[in-house]
Amino acid sequence: QWTGLNELREKFLSFFESKGHLRMPSASLIPKDDNSLLLINSGMAPLKKYFTGEVTPPSRRVTTCQKCIRTPDIERVGITARHGTFFEMLGNFSFGDYFKHEAIAWAWEFCTKVLELPEEKLWVTIYLDDDEAFDIWTKEIGVSPERIVRLGKEDNFWEHGSGPCGPCSEIHFDRGEKYGCGKPSCGPGCDCDRYTEFWNVVFSQFDSDGKGNYPPMEHPNIDTGMGLERLACIMQGVDNLFLVDTMQSIMKHICRIAGVQYGEDEKKDISLRVITDHVRSTTFMIGDGVMPSNEGRGYVLRRLLRRAARHGRLLGIGRPFLSEVAQTVIQENKDAYPELEEKKAMITRLISVEEESFARTIDQGMQLLAGVLDKNESRVVSGQDAFLLNDTYGFPLDLTKEIAAERGMTVDEEEFHRLMQAQKDRARAARKNAGADAWAGEADALDGLPETDFVGYDRLETPAALL
Ligand code: ATP
Ligand code: MG
Ligand code: MG
Ligand code: MG
Repeated sequence: QWTGLNELREKFLSFFESKGHLRMPSASLIPKDDNSLLLINSGMAPLKKYFTGEVTPPSRRVTTCQKCIRTPDIERVGITARHGTFFEMLGNFSFGDYFKHEAIAWAWEFCTKVLELPEEKLWVTIYLDDDEAFDIWTKEIGVSPERIVRLGKEDNFWEHGSGPCGPCSEIHFDRGEKYGCGKPSCGPGCDCDRYTEFWNVVFSQFDSDGKGNYPPMEHPNIDTGMGLERLACIMQGVDNLFLVDTMQSIMKHICRIAGVQYGEDEKKDISLRVITDHVRSTTFMIGDGVMPSNEGRGYVLRRLLRRAARHGRLLGIGRPFLSEVAQTVIQENKDAYPELEEKKAMITRLISVEEESFARTIDQGMQLLAGVLDKNESRVVSGQDAFLLNDTYGFPLDLTKEIAAERGMTVDEEEFHRLMQAQKDRARAARKNAGADAWAGEADALDGLPETDFVGYDRLETPAALL
């Protein structure tokens, strides 16, 4: 049954409210009091302190729809049907309250009764030795044992260093042979897009000491995560995340600017999907206060914007266009995320400035890089060239790597990083010499911090000086 993304979000949250959960708003993408993480990447991340017991939660049952950024997925965006760097994660959480039985039963009830997903298309994965979960799924829920797959640590055990951890159980939707890789081993857990994992139910039941000991926790927790765009993709029967209703107007806007149509040329389709994704993630990041810079979150933002700009060039767009597309992102999401409308002027301004500054040097940089690639017999771009591209033309290392990889070449990253470090050391020495003595100590103390402060438009307009 076709259901819009906004309606799906509401269905999930109100379902868990009906099960006694407190609905809490999404936290900012910028983690609060947590420097183990650059950007929030799951529904659980901003609630960590409730799990460890450090802070008492406002309710022992909570449900949220959390904005998430996952840059490690960047290479997969536009290629797989199911990955974005930005997505919304729906979740229900139990802080020492209910456990496996309820978590599994409610997940199934939501899928089969509320969403009315056909049971014969649903598959379940569990951790290798989690017989408790197996029994609940088969005996209490009535899922056929043939539809349950046992997977190893990588897929079905959640662990981040020491602390709360445990097995998980995931629900997958079989989208049919059309999306399969065709390998005999293809099934839930396969990397192709046929069996799409859409809901992860984590049973936080152990308190790992990080040395291989897993004593059970007195009050185990539940942490679940369901990708809203993935769910919408399944419910709307569309090929990939970027064809979901709320994404469509963004992509159509890009098509209009580029004068291309989706579905005519696979290469262009990839660029359309990448731009759609990256404008979404950067719009939300700026909305939460991230500023372009060369380190930390600001670098992630800059890298996404430049990547989107480059794909715009690949589509033949010869002028800055990303801030126009950002307006459509804001339009599509402002009801659920009013902060986007409030920060609209700032978002579009920052994107324009960043894109224009990049545009001024990108052509020269591309020419230089093409020259380097053409006359290169060693198949390795030197660290010197990568550094020059970065320093003078504003090409982030990843962009150089990506363009080189398209030609089957690599980059000497070690030399690149050595040159970057040398430059940083020089800058630090210069700062020390220039600063009054009384401030010298403070400049040093600030060196260790990620540079996320906004440095002003004048500096953004001269990226070469910044990079
Ligand atoms: P996958 O194996 O497909 O990469 P995952 O196992 O990394 O997903 P989890 O960490 O279990 O994902 O996150 C919970 C849910 O969040 C997933 O089941 C999925 O619905 C959604 N999700 C995860 N990564 C992405 C992404 N990059 N884009 C969109 N949705 C995602
Ligand atoms: Mg993943
Ligand atoms: Mg997975
Ligand atoms: Mg998973």
